[in-house]
Amino acid sequence: MGAQMLLTTTVGSFPKPTYLSKARNDYGKGRLSEQELSKLERKATEECIRLQEGVGLDILVHGEMERGDMVTYFAERMEGFGISGLVRSYGNRYYRKPVVKGEVKRDRPITVETFKFAQGLTAKPVKGMLTGPYTMCDWSFNEFYPDRRSLVLALAGEIRKEVLDLEKAGAKYVQIDEPAISTRPDEIDLAIEAMKIVTQGVKAKTISHICYGDFTAMYPRILDLAVDQLDLEFANGDFANLDIFKSPPFTKEVAVGVVDVHSHVIESKEQVKAGIRKALEVFPLENVYIDPDCGLKTRTWEEAEAKLKVMVQAVKEIKKELGLK
Ligand SMILES: [Zn+2]
Repeated sequence: MGAQMLLTTTVGSFPKPTYLSKARNDYGKGRLSEQELSKLERKATEECIRLQEGVGLDILVHGEMERGDMVTYFAERMEGFGISGLVRSYGNRYYRKPVVKGEVKRDRPITVETFKFAQGLTAKPVKGMLTGPYTMCDWSFNEFYPDRRSLVLALAGEIRKEVLDLEKAGAKYVQIDEPAISTRPDEIDLAIEAMKIVTQGVKAKTISHICYGDFTAMYPRILDLAVDQLDLEFANGDFANLDIFKSPPFTKEVAVGVVDVHSHVIESKEQVKAGIRKALEVFPLENVYIDPDCGLKTRTWEEAEAKLKVMVQAVKEIKKELGLK
């Protein structure tokens, strides 16, 4: 009993090894071929799978070695998008933002090859990883559709095709991230309407990761997102936001973020165990998965590995305390 409880996973991104960051830069400057880059991306993906197996995670990710920005990556591979000039975001950070200039269309699978490659490396399940329609819209300029709703719903229909292709390729879990939801709680109805389209009739387990922590304005509405599991961050706010989910009761599976991805400091095992115990006071044991707060791409490879080791060890000891396998 209990082998299938408190399964451990991660949110999706892993740090890029130095050789890959260098290769991406060289490729951007035309000094490296696409083939060479892709070879190194696969090497890094394999290293990422081995790291996760080594640590002992239950559900793996491919690590997103081929991706830069989670919206731009998809926009560049769909019809209807262009890319803007440099736009200022936080402080002095500049980036290029996707621009919708025509009907959005996904002509061919975007993530399926990478998924198959990663899944082929391991006997453990690997999650399919997508960016949701609401976030795709919110982080792009719209110069074509009459309003945000028509763009979001059009994107939903296209992303749905990718979900179905991933499922066909054998994905047991498909994650459709919607980090932008928490920045615009006034538009949550639209995000909910779109997710219904994305996951309708899908048999793979569906997950959505929502970032940035303040769930007060969105709860319990987020329970209407048509996914089996919500993946939320808790460690960053020292688990204070758990209280929000006490009432009404949480009706989905939940992946509980128990290590802070924004900090270099490696949590102690006792700290992580305390977090898990708090979460189990709010969520039913059989619905709980354990993972870091968010993607690990801003950490170093060593920090990512160390945080995951502590996490897996903490889960083992909690399971023992509970009399689970
Ligand atoms: Zn996140």
